[in-house]
Amino acid sequence: MKYGVNEYGYYGDFGGAYVPEMLYPNVEELRQEYQKIINDDSFKAEFNQLLRDYVGRPSPLYYAKRYSEKYGANIFFKREDLNHTGSHKINNAIGQILLAKRLGKKRIIAETGAGQHGVATATVCALMGIECVVYMGEIDMERQAPNVARMKMLGAKVVPATSGSKTLKDATNEAMRDWIANPVDTHYIIGSVVGPYPYPDMVAQFQSIISAETKKQLLEQTGSELPHYVLACVGGGSNAMGMFYHFLDDEEVKLIAVEAAGKGVNSGHSAATTALGKEGVLHGSRTILMQTDDGQVVEPYSISAGLDYPGIGPQHAHLYKINRAVYVSITDDESLDAGLLCSQLEGIIPAIETAHALAYLEKVTFQPTDNVVICISGRGDKDLNTYIKHFGF
Ligand SMILES: *Cc1c(COP(=O)(O)O)cnc(C)c1O
Repeated sequence: MKYGVNEYGYYGDFGGAYVPEMLYPNVEELRQEYQKIINDDSFKAEFNQLLRDYVGRPSPLYYAKRYSEKYGANIFFKREDLNHTGSHKINNAIGQILLAKRLGKKRIIAETGAGQHGVATATVCALMGIECVVYMGEIDMERQAPNVARMKMLGAKVVPATSGSKTLKDATNEAMRDWIANPVDTHYIIGSVVGPYPYPDMVAQFQSIISAETKKQLLEQTGSELPHYVLACVGGGSNAMGMFYHFLDDEEVKLIAVEAAGKGVNSGHSAATTALGKEGVLHGSRTILMQTDDGQVVEPYSISAGLDYPGIGPQHAHLYKINRAVYVSITDDESLDAGLLCSQLEGIIPAIETAHALAYLEKVTFQPTDNVVICISGRGDKDLNTYIKHFGF
């Protein structure tokens, strides 16, 4: 694949595995084994069966009639919101738990910000009967109490990270420390296309089911497997990478990645990584991240917890730099309005992350014959309180 990872774990200038020496054996074991394992027929059979019978795949490709009328193009929703646990994150969690089993691991760790990845991880650990420890910033545990309860109900241990800003990056540090201390029996499930190689490629492959299905469904519904536009929101970038994956080599397909502008790109409260970021190393890979002049990571902000991340995965950094995909951003307010519009035009309450992608439809002028696919990365149940507060229902 032209835009895929090379044998050294790089996408152009980005990627690699920048980890402390003590983590090297863990990452190296994964690097040596992952391709063999995930390309094995028995792995594929088990993965595909669980995606079908447990997750509920294939997720529908829904022709959104009223959206199509409003925006003057054929708009299709790829319905990842209908997956078990309510978003695309379960695709990756299933893939990684099956990989961990084949590596002989007896224990799973993860870190979570909003709790969505923690819930997906706790879910697959329950499914497989494997011990699960989720690290979460103490402040995030307060903000996301329902997800903490879900993880506990699913049998996971939730450990508060009490250092630093007591949020995601501190939880990540705790998870790294745990992995260093338990290299033999523990697998670390990372929730997006970030982290040291091979994670970005591994997660992209697990999420690529999204675009594989979309191609087939588009062919059935439109007579062509290629749309004119593909849109997805980007936090770390896993739903977008899954949605782009099988279209990357189809250069005529326009790929649009939507970041969170928060209160405005230049407001000082933003998570618009490509607009504000510079090249550097974040969470084990060389990528684009928001940082100060002397290289300190800038605390990001978005109303949407899933997009509130100071970087993007290295493959996105590459696609951005070489202009294969376009990176844009949407503010909190624009996303909330789009969430309301989608609810009232289509009867689908989207996650606020997803609403960022939907909001960008306002900014494109389409031809009536254009086929447009948007990844509906998750459902909005978890965001109801935020919607209520904003609209005063
Ligand atoms: C976590 C999450 C995201 C952002 O993560 P990516 O890795 O960028 O996909 C987007 N949408 C939903 C619904 C999420 O839960």
